[in-house]
Amino acid sequence: MEMRSRGGGLRMTFLKLSVLPILLLTLIVTLFAAGSFARTMRREVENELKNLNGAVSAAYDMIYPGDYTVAEELGELYLFKGKHQINEDYSVIDKIKENTGADITISYQNVRVITTLMDENHDRLAGTKVSGSITREVLEGKVGKFYPKVPIGGENYFAYYAPLINSDGSSVGMLFVAKPSREVDRLIWKSITPIVAGALAVAAVMILIITVFSNRFLRTLIEIENLLKKTANGELNAELEPEVLKRGDELGDMGRNVIRMQRSLRDLIELDQLTGLYNRRYVQRKLEQVQKKSVETGIPFSVAIGDIDFFKKVNDTYGHECGDAVLMDVSARMRELMKGRGFAARWGGEEFLLVFENYRLEMAADSLEDLLGVIRSRTISFQDEKVKITMTFGVAEGDSGRLDHIIGKADEKLYHGKNNGRNQVVW
Ligand code: GH3
Ligand code: MG
Ligand code: MG
Repeated sequence: MEMRSRGGGLRMTFLKLSVLPILLLTLIVTLFAAGSFARTMRREVENELKNLNGAVSAAYDMIYPGDYTVAEELGELYLFKGKHQINEDYSVIDKIKENTGADITISYQNVRVITTLMDENHDRLAGTKVSGSITREVLEGKVGKFYPKVPIGGENYFAYYAPLINSDGSSVGMLFVAKPSREVDRLIWKSITPIVAGALAVAAVMILIITVFSNRFLRTLIEIENLLKKTANGELNAELEPEVLKRGDELGDMGRNVIRMQRSLRDLIELDQLTGLYNRRYVQRKLEQVQKKSVETGIPFSVAIGDIDFFKKVNDTYGHECGDAVLMDVSARMRELMKGRGFAARWGGEEFLLVFENYRLEMAADSLEDLLGVIRSRTISFQDEKVKITMTFGVAEGDSGRLDHIIGKADEKLYHGKNNGRNQVVW
């Protein structure tokens, strides 16, 4: 439970460090790109409408040369271009609308006279008026202008208005060329949709990659944390998955260091600091295992206690440090001899316990005779000193009884040897 919450905490940190910046960056880049794309698209539509406006104006000049004039009769307005009356003639604008999709209106002053715009009943919106502000800016100001949302007959238009100027320079009306704002908006949205979709796809892939990698990283980290926890709880043999140990990065180092820490802790707990042999506490546990195995298999084991003869004299004559060197040298010989036979431990000051697995008494005694032979023949050098020592061993065969009794038997034999000339194996 605790572990999961910890992994969750780190996962949040990962999210904050990686996913958030990506989303933010994607958002900014997308907004920027989509914004500038939309502006370009809009400008393109504007140019199209402006050009079309010029083309319509030129077409009228070509077909009907002359100025725009108006005649009023019985309250009706009649618009003329040169000699032609044009307010009943929709052929030009309808043709252009058919080809371009754009709506066209010619207004005299601010009144729409000829138009492609229609109401719901398909009646042309002739006779309606252009808004005051547009009239002021275009008609009176004599300049063409864009209006993104001109409401006409329940619809909004993206429109370009241009003034109609007669040969005397007077401004007589306006030419409106437009497309429904909805259509322009749809066009713009259609053009930026791939950008937005592309950016989102890239962000999604990046987030996916980061999630996969961070999950893998977190899993490894949690595994190491698990091992640390077990180690902290005294499970010094807990293992780590081989993939983690094989990693070449800092996580791999971390895992390997935990394993090394376990080994160091095990050594501290199990080994005697001076000699490197098992210590007394640990050897008792090991001895229990050997006895259990022996009881199960029916194969005997033997236990010996060895004590260096007159060791006090070594200390007194050559000093305590020399005594230590002798202890180390003797321990090394024992470890060598016990390889494949069992193990040796430091039982006390200059006393050692040796456990022979699968050895009956005679075989153990034989091996100890060999060991004693080696020890006798050695000359141990320490600084300028040359020291020779002997040892006495007592050995007893193990059984399924109490361990302290078995050790006690070996101890008795040792005592016997000490009282009978030392430098021997008693069994
Ligand atoms: P015996 O043959 O009867 O065993 O005589 P001994 O002198 O070996 O026995 P005794 O028990 O009188 O003396 C053991 C000495 O071992 C006393 C102690 O100072 C010394 N000793 C115990 N542990 C260490 C150690 O770690 N280093 C050194 N240098 N000496 C130690
Ligand atoms: Mg001694
Ligand atoms: Mg002793």
